[in-house]
Amino acid sequence: MIQPIRAKTILNPVKQPDTWFGLRYNMNLYRGCQHQCIYCDSRSACYQIENFADIMVKENAIELLEKELPRKRVKGTIGTGSMNDPYMPVEEKFNLTGRALEVIARHHFPVHVITKSARVLKDLETLRRIHEVYAAVSFSITTTDDGLAKKLEPGASPPSERLRAMQTLSENGILTGVVMMPVLPFLEDTEENITAIVRQAHAHGATYILPAFGVTLRDQQRDYFYEKLDRHFPGVRAQYERFGDKYFAPARNSWHLEKVFQALCKDLGLKTQMPVYEGEKNKQMSLF
Ligand code: SF4
Repeated sequence: MIQPIRAKTILNPVKQPDTWFGLRYNMNLYRGCQHQCIYCDSRSACYQIENFADIMVKENAIELLEKELPRKRVKGTIGTGSMNDPYMPVEEKFNLTGRALEVIARHHFPVHVITKSARVLKDLETLRRIHEVYAAVSFSITTTDDGLAKKLEPGASPPSERLRAMQTLSENGILTGVVMMPVLPFLEDTEENITAIVRQAHAHGATYILPAFGVTLRDQQRDYFYEKLDRHFPGVRAQYERFGDKYFAPARNSWHLEKVFQALCKDLGLKTQMPVYEGEKNKQMSLF
């Protein structure tokens, strides 16, 4: 089901400091996500999204953004892509992300997009304009195996397409990299997988890779994930059940994977932390 809704606000403040992406504001233009990744944390009960497969389109989002943006005193990075993918298929019809980026470009704000879709390329020209201030696009990639990704992230672009899109962004001077999370225990936590992602990211113009060796599991989300494990990966659920109700299920040999990951990134010159927008910081420092 796709349904229009009216939002009260569109730019929400992010708790400071945001050590992952350096965000100041968060923007969700939709609710629910068509990519339907089986491990998605947004299904957790705490977010109170009744049916995550139903897509709510915030029909007044652009109007709100036009009002809210000029009132922001701090020019900080606007993040999008944490609770849903801004480039899921519905974006083709409503173009909310495309239109929001236009507004952001006009107001000269920095932006950070997380996506699993090659559809981001439709906004290449706008992202180029935003990058005069700062634009970063992070592709969420946890395997380079398109077949495995089809089971884990059924609605998203195959990783091979995401990587090609990354290459195009990089060739156009836009800051881009990989969010390698979650590395799923028993499915993706091998040295071969980690090194393949790092090498492919490097070959396709990534500047950074941010890893998380494990997956978070909570209430509703855990049940959904286990159901899908039963369907696609018989026997794997029992291995997860050993974690009980724990919030974090770590990858096997995380310390070893982390070591291999860090060494390879160093060799290839890839950053393992996000190069964040520093504009405000520089401005503040120049006052002293
Ligand atoms: S793309 Fe992101 S928000 Fe959408 S289902 Fe996958 S993990 Fe969840």
